[in-house]
Amino acid sequence: MSRFLSDRLSALKEYIPGEQPQDMKYIKLNTNESPYDPSPEVKKAITQKRAAKLQLYPEPDCTELSDALARYYNVDRNNILIGNGSDEILNFCFSAYFDNKSPVLFPDITYGFYKVFADLYGSDYTQIPLNDCFCIDPNDYIGKNKNIILANPNAPTGIALPVSDIETMAASNPDNIVIIDEAYVDFGGQSCAQLIKKYKNLIVVMTFSKSRSLAGARMGFAIADSELISDLNKIKYSTNPYNINSMSQQAALAAVNSCDYYEQNCKKIMVTRDNFCIGLEKLNFEYLPSCANFIFAKKTGIDGKTLYLELKKKGILTRHFDSPRIQDFLRITIGTQQQMDILLSALSEITEEIL
Ligand code: PMP
Repeated sequence: MSRFLSDRLSALKEYIPGEQPQDMKYIKLNTNESPYDPSPEVKKAITQKRAAKLQLYPEPDCTELSDALARYYNVDRNNILIGNGSDEILNFCFSAYFDNKSPVLFPDITYGFYKVFADLYGSDYTQIPLNDCFCIDPNDYIGKNKNIILANPNAPTGIALPVSDIETMAASNPDNIVIIDEAYVDFGGQSCAQLIKKYKNLIVVMTFSKSRSLAGARMGFAIADSELISDLNKIKYSTNPYNINSMSQQAALAAVNSCDYYEQNCKKIMVTRDNFCIGLEKLNFEYLPSCANFIFAKKTGIDGKTLYLELKKKGILTRHFDSPRIQDFLRITIGTQQQMDILLSALSEITEEIL
């Protein structure tokens, strides 16, 4: 860090992304990517002329893609904003709405970037503890006259709230922004996207990184009332109008147009998740009931860090969070059935060696 960095940024603790080793030596179950390739249509689209016209700037409004998403989610084009990953959308939201005069609530255990953005923008925030079962208690957010951001399903727990709870939160905080981050909604959660027609204060954030196998393309989007979308566009056009490159636009468009392929993949991942949970039970692991493409699990007698390191030695990457209430847990992405079988054998060996 240089002596020129502002005091505010010097004090900022940045987000630490999961490991991305490039040697392919690992079974990679640490960053909730899809184990399945992008669809054949996506692979074709990124090699086509339109995607490869890299001497030209991309189309800044992503019109074709916004139209395709609007059709898929049954909203208007002006209810959609595309971002360079949903992280960029979240960044826009914090920058637009949460400062030291408009406090925001989020759970103590949730996506780590919320706290980083809050610190970055000097937002006034309160982290509300999850209950003893690691669930969000909706009452903590109802009628509080505060902004809210929640991941639903939550991460890293995987536990989801029903749409009715989200609706109560949006309805009971009418003068505040409610952001619902649905990064993992396609694996068994309920989307609240249709509520944006009724609640002008609701922003739903989604990603192409998980169910649509496009983490490397960096594509996310917001669905919200057109006035909120124009707020967020103001930030986009004041920072980086060409935030979505031509190849990623074409890849995402082809992904929306091959939804059957991705819906099948989500079903496969949910079946693999159920099988994996049965395997964990046989090994006497505890786990939380997940509606996401990951499982948060622990084994009494072995701390999470040790388990993470032992698995890494065996060539399997998982995610461990070194924070007080969850340090015994590992967040394990659901891979292919074969990968999960290898993981279960490794867990069985490790528990026999250690306990
Ligand atoms: N929200 C949640 C809850 C996540 O876990 C992630 C992935 N790290 C994101 C948003 C961001 O995803 P992306 O930027 O790849 O769209």
